[in-house]
Amino acid sequence: MNDIKNKKISLLGSTGSIGRQSLDVCRQYPELEIVALAAFDEVEEIAAQAHEFKPQLVALADESKYHELKAALADIDCRIVMGEEGVCEAASFAECDTVLGAISGIAGLKPVYNAIMAGKDIALANKEVLVGAGELIMREAEAQNISLLPVDSEHSAIFQCLQGRKEEISRLIITASGGAFFGYNKDALKNVTAADALRHPTWKMGPKITVDSATLMNKGLEIIEAHHLFNMPYEKILPIIHRESIVHSMVEYCDGAVIALLSEPDMCLPIQYALTYPQRFASPIKFMDFSQMQTLTFRPCMISDFPCLELALEAAKRGDGATVALNAANEVLVHEFLKGRIGFMDIPRNLEKILSSFDSIRVDSLSYILEADAEARSLTRSLLA
Ligand code: MG
Repeated sequence: MNDIKNKKISLLGSTGSIGRQSLDVCRQYPELEIVALAAFDEVEEIAAQAHEFKPQLVALADESKYHELKAALADIDCRIVMGEEGVCEAASFAECDTVLGAISGIAGLKPVYNAIMAGKDIALANKEVLVGAGELIMREAEAQNISLLPVDSEHSAIFQCLQGRKEEISRLIITASGGAFFGYNKDALKNVTAADALRHPTWKMGPKITVDSATLMNKGLEIIEAHHLFNMPYEKILPIIHRESIVHSMVEYCDGAVIALLSEPDMCLPIQYALTYPQRFASPIKFMDFSQMQTLTFRPCMISDFPCLELALEAAKRGDGATVALNAANEVLVHEFLKGRIGFMDIPRNLEKILSSFDSIRVDSLSYILEADAEARSLTRSLLA
């Protein structure tokens, strides 16, 4: 018998890769109840989810789809809310106690911020929230006395490997698969396409994060995420290449002991743990079979080989809000690359230009952060025009 009391969950980003897998998890356990769903513009899919999970509230960011959504939900009893405001309403919905933030990109920041201010516990898959507004989010989470648990697999692993006192931790070791192009030289990278980048060796994820994984920007964003989540200085966070994606991350202690978390790569596990913590529920995921395992390999991650990772770490160390511009420009550039309008190496080339022209902002205010985000986006678009 499971003894966590029922969790009432508002799922933001229900039609994305993490959103769908979150619903797979909720399907397994009657203790995890979906009371609100929010998505961007996928009417058909969110309507099907609403018919299955019977939430009290359904939010869609694209306001132009109101009539279509209303018709699709005509036969069930739920409230429909639209636009960014509607998504924020789902995030602070009175009937929910936990918000699962699975929107892709900075679009998730305002809703997650609203959820925290409404006193909701957060399961966070949306790393851009911490990349853009880590100081603010962690400060408000503490002030509101809510729990903010990571869904990102590396951070879930670190969270599970952390024990003892903070001063006993010597380093967080974040593993990186290396993405679709590991081992490619600079010439080969010039001609790779979006389709090539989307062939990730181990994880099945949404398109934006899969490209970030190929540039290693994803690892840069994750190092920033870890810095905020675990209050760890950047010098103590080490990325390492681990092609198999079996060791999800590790914590090294002052006596030389290292605690690692291993599992088959399946996002359902970190999603589930963020929702059932501090308990563990029996899970249907594939278990490790050590009798079949060949080898686990590790090699140093040479930061200078990956310009996007290097730029992310530079922006992070500035600490003046440069990560807001980094993230905004990266979102625009990845989108353009996915559309086939720019090349793979145009991503770091333009990122560097944006970062070099970025002026410091105050990082303790949501409005300054969102303003800087919008500015960096338009600057990136004008660079490409
Ligand atoms: Mg990750």
